[in-house]
Order: sequence, then structure tokens, then C-alpha cells
Amino acid sequence: MKPWNDQFDLLIKSRAPLILIRSTEEERVESLIKQASKRLNSRRYSSWDYIDGLQGVLNSERLGVRQPMAVLEWIKKLDSSIPTILLIKDFDRFLDDAGIARMLKNLAYKLRETPHSIVFCSGSWRPSIDLEDSFTFLDLPYPKESELKILLENISKATGYSIERDVLEELTRACSGLSEMKVRQMAARALAQRGKLSRDDLNEVLEEKRQSIARSEVLEYCNTVATQGDIGGLDSLKAWLDQRHQAFSEEAKSFGLPLPRGVLLIGPQGTGKSLTAKAIAHSWSMPLLRLDIGRLFAGIVGASEARTRETIQRAESMAPCVLWIDEIDKGFGGDARSDGGTSQRVLANVLTWMAEKTSPVFVVATANGIDRLPAELLRKGRFDEIFMLELPSAQERLSIIKLHLQSRRPNVEIPIDSLVDRTEGFSGAELEQTVIEAMHFAFAEKRELIESDLILAASQLVPLSRTAKEQIEFLQEWASTGRARPASLRIN
Ligand code: ADP
Repeated sequence: MKPWNDQFDLLIKSRAPLILIRSTEEERVESLIKQASKRLNSRRYSSWDYIDGLQGVLNSERLGVRQPMAVLEWIKKLDSSIPTILLIKDFDRFLDDAGIARMLKNLAYKLRETPHSIVFCSGSWRPSIDLEDSFTFLDLPYPKESELKILLENISKATGYSIERDVLEELTRACSGLSEMKVRQMAARALAQRGKLSRDDLNEVLEEKRQSIARSEVLEYCNTVATQGDIGGLDSLKAWLDQRHQAFSEEAKSFGLPLPRGVLLIGPQGTGKSLTAKAIAHSWSMPLLRLDIGRLFAGIVGASEARTRETIQRAESMAPCVLWIDEIDKGFGGDARSDGGTSQRVLANVLTWMAEKTSPVFVVATANGIDRLPAELLRKGRFDEIFMLELPSAQERLSIIKLHLQSRRPNVEIPIDSLVDRTEGFSGAELEQTVIEAMHFAFAEKRELIESDLILAASQLVPLSRTAKEQIEFLQEWASTGRARPASLRIN
């Protein structure tokens, strides 16, 4: 993709009349446009906001204070002798006005004959469908590492201290994924406290990122202690994950291996998909970010795409990390006709990002079924691998029961072989529930847990495989066609 400056210059030169820069960084956008107007010599930079009106135009300073229509009238009548880029701030707030919306449509035609462009900047606003075609969109990603390095160097220089090379490298890497404003704020705090930028600021940067996740409505920062040792069975999946973990190393990179992209885990409820997502993050010492798809789509139609972009940026800012897309089948199973194609567009954004991403964000997507899973997700190459987590085999059931007994009653030895046949069709979650139920029986009678408690508990539980038999059989049939790799090593 072309550098951002080139893309912007091209839009101005090709006389795009209305440009929407999708970014929350108004100050940065302003400074980038100022630089562009200098580059594209003979272009004048001007801006308008509700309080100060027009700025940067001799003889028309403060025109249109509190009068958005006036500034549009002004640019409409502006002759072509001084090509102008006009940045209009907060304009999304005035577009409910029918006159202003109409005026913008007119300008979309009119300005094409002139060398003037109007630029809008917003992280979340999207024009209504009838205005959409009048705009050209341009995303502004957060500053790249090279830009951050210059920014940090400049800040440091201004204090009179030169920053050490390796500290600069580390800070730059830590700041990647933060907006310029956030980096400046962090630096200002550091300078106020210590008078210079140093390694001590790294923690603050990480904390800032954590808070940025906490502010997000869509991402949740999960604290997890689960390890692969807490997963019973699923040996094939565990071996594969160990292999992929190694592919994050520098050696793997110089060996020519690509960064792992992610894995899709499909299986009936309670088979350990979420547990696996948690164990991956913990075993790989990466933060786990859980993406709530429901929230991605909640709220105003059209806002979802902006929220997706913002969510991806936030996740990338935490890289290396694990991004867990929980119940992905629920989110993208929407009907294109009923949601105006939003879920399709969001899915396309996510897939493009997954294909092009260069940051170490490992995506773990989980799904309970395939009937609502869009075919695009299942296509080869989207994920590194698709695993099918079936209901545990006899051997796996034993190891899952053992794990849960050990974690709760570590010093008690109980024979459990008799449970194997009695728990056929149980999921990992149901086996755990059986152990807990059995412990309730024992505790109520104030004695140690015994085998018959487990047998009784198992006999009382009606597993999902009985109540949702058809669904599970459908999944098994689908998996048997080879479209997903079995997560378990089947020996029996
Ligand atoms: P899913 O995400 O597939 O619906 P979960 O991972 O949420 O299932 O499982 C719920 C709980 O059941 C887990 O937290 C864990 O305690 C238990 N469990 C499920 N599968 C296993 C397993 N293979 N080994 C050990 N515990 C399991």
C-alpha cells in the first residue's frame, strides 16, 4: 500500500471534493494536512470550527462562527486562483440539518470543477447512504514505528537530554499502537516526574495500553492462569500449538517462517475451546484480549465498521497478544438483508486484516457450530488451521476427570475407571460439573469424596449430546469430511 502522504496528495491532486479521514487524532490530521499543503505548493491550508470559525484565510478570519452553512457558502463561491484545502471540524454534528446535507451534495459536484477540497476527520462517523458516494474515505493508521521514533527523539531533544539508543528502541516498540496524542501525554508525564525519557517509562506505556483496552467496549482484558496442563486430551491440538509458539521466535523468522496467524476451534459447547484460548495466552506469556462480537454490532447501524477498525488498532497496540474472538459463528451469521450488509463488511474487514497483518497478534476464534459460520471463514488459508474439538474419548474423559479431581481434592485417590462408560457423550464441562456435584454430595454428609458420589452425579446429569443429539451428529459428520483437523489423537 502507498504511504499515507502519497495517498492524500493523490486525492488532492485528483480533485476529490469531500474527503473523510477516518481517525480520532484531529491534531495529527491537522498537522499532516498542513505538511501536505506545503508539499503541494500553492495550496492554502484553512480550517473551520464552530467556535473560532474560519482560520487561515486573510480577510475572512472568523467567518462563519457558529454558522456552519456560512463556511460552505464561502468555499462554494471561492474562485480558483488560490487552491484551498479546508479542514472542517466536528462537522458530523451538523449533518442532521437538511440544508447542510443538501449543500454538501451540491458541493460534491461543484467542487470537482475547482481545485478546492473539504476534509473531514472523525473516528466513528459515517455518512448516511445517500451522502456516502459523495465522500472519499482515507484511513489514518496510528503512527508507524519510524514516526514514533522521530517523535520520541524530538521530545527528548527538547528537554536537553539525548535518549540512549536502546532505550529509544524499546520505548518506540512499546509505544507502537498508541495515538500521537497518547504518546505526547505519556512523555509529558514522564518529563514532569523525572525530567527525561527513560526505561522507567515502559511500564507506564504498558499500563496506558491496558487502560485503553479497558475503555474499549468491545475488548476485554482477560486475566488467565490456565495452562496446557489443565487441558485433558486434545493432544493433537496441544502439539500443534507448541509448534506454532516456536514460530514467533527470531530464529523462526530468520529461518523464513511466517508469523502464525491464528486458529479456528470448532466444537460442541463445553469441549474446552475457551479453556484452550486462555491456556495459549498464558503458556505463551501473551496478554489475552477477548472480543465480544455482540458489542461490535451493538448500537447504530454503520458504527460497527469504525468500531472494528478501532478494535483492531487497540489489539495491535498490545501485540504480541492473543485475540480471542469468542463465538464467531454468532457474530457473522447475520442475514445481509436484515443488517444492511454490515456483518458482511465487518467480516471482510477482519479477514483482510488477518491476511495482511504483520504484527504478532494470534487470533483464536471459537465456534459452537458451523451452520451459521460464513463459508469465507472456513476457506483454506484464513486461519493457519481449523480444529474440530469432539466430545472426549474414553481415555480423554479419564484424564479430564483426573485433572478436575486433582485440582480440587489433590490428596485424595479415588478409582474412576467405572466412570468411563457412565460418562459417554459428556463434554469436558459436564465432566467437571460431575466432579463438583459429587463433591457436594460428600460435603453435605461431612465425609470424603468416594467413587459412588461420582457415579451418582454422572447418572443424574443429562448431557447436551443427548438433548442436542442432531446438532452434534451434524458437526461430527461435517468434521469427518476432512474440512477440519481432529483436535484429539484417536487411539481407540
Ligand atoms: P467451550 O468454550 O468449548 O464451550 P469451555 O472451555 O468454556 O468450553 O469449558 C468450560 C469448562 O469445562 C472449562 O473451564 C474446564 O473447566 C472444563 N473443560 C472443558 N474441556 C476440558 C478439557 N478438555 N480438559 C479439562 N477441562 C475441560
